[in-house]
Amino acid sequence: MKRHDGRAPEQLRDINIQVGVLKNADGSCYLEWGKNKIMAAVYGPRPSMGRWDYNPFRAVLNFRYNMAPFSVEERKRPGPDRRSIEISKVLREALEKIVFLDYFPRTRIDVFVEVLQADAGTRCASLTAASLALADAGIPMKGIVAACALGRIDGTIVYDLDKTEEELTDFDLPVGILGHNEHVVLLQMDGKVSVDDLKEILKKAIEANKIVYEKQKEALRRKFGEVNGTE
Ligand code: ADP
Repeated sequence: MKRHDGRAPEQLRDINIQVGVLKNADGSCYLEWGKNKIMAAVYGPRPSMGRWDYNPFRAVLNFRYNMAPFSVEERKRPGPDRRSIEISKVLREALEKIVFLDYFPRTRIDVFVEVLQADAGTRCASLTAASLALADAGIPMKGIVAACALGRIDGTIVYDLDKTEEELTDFDLPVGILGHNEHVVLLQMDGKVSVDDLKEILKKAIEANKIVYEKQKEALRRKFGEVNGTE
């Protein structure tokens, strides 16, 4: 099976990651994943400002996913919409499970993701970048989260759908895992698939995510290898 951009079914789009690109954030990551271009920035832990972001037992994690007006072909109306509110919520919930929030009571951690250019798979790319920005900020976590969406086109399972393929797929299944132990932290789906097939597809999703995880580790090594003078 040939995909419209020439990729093999189990091939991801090209991924390029740079960790620590913003001077004024505590942690940051710029990710190019195919035509997706994504900037993630992390501030904190910093003191809570009021009752709305205060928890005496743990840090409050805020997550904002935002698509720039110029990120898609038709100008996107600026500001939050139903989709970006949903994505912010699910990605926040994924990260809340892996950040050691109880180490930092009475503080907040802010994670901002700006999608500069979108070509499907942006929630997975955002989670992948956000997790690296958190690591760059030195925030303790159970591990690094990798994420990738899978689909099925003409009976073949394909990794990492782009926008053209999103129109053709039977289902769109974004999956995020903890890279080192493969625990699932994000799982969403729209479309149609049998339970038996789903089990097989989830195994493949782990394989796809391992590819992403390797890229993340390389990017962290590039940044922190230099700092430590070990590479
Ligand atoms: P994901 O980006 O995680 O795949 P969706 O499946 O909701 O999330 O969106 C798929 C793609 O549709 C986006 O990556 C983007 O390319 C496009 N898209 C999303 N929202 C808009 C919008 N408001 N206007 C134009 N294109 C959009």
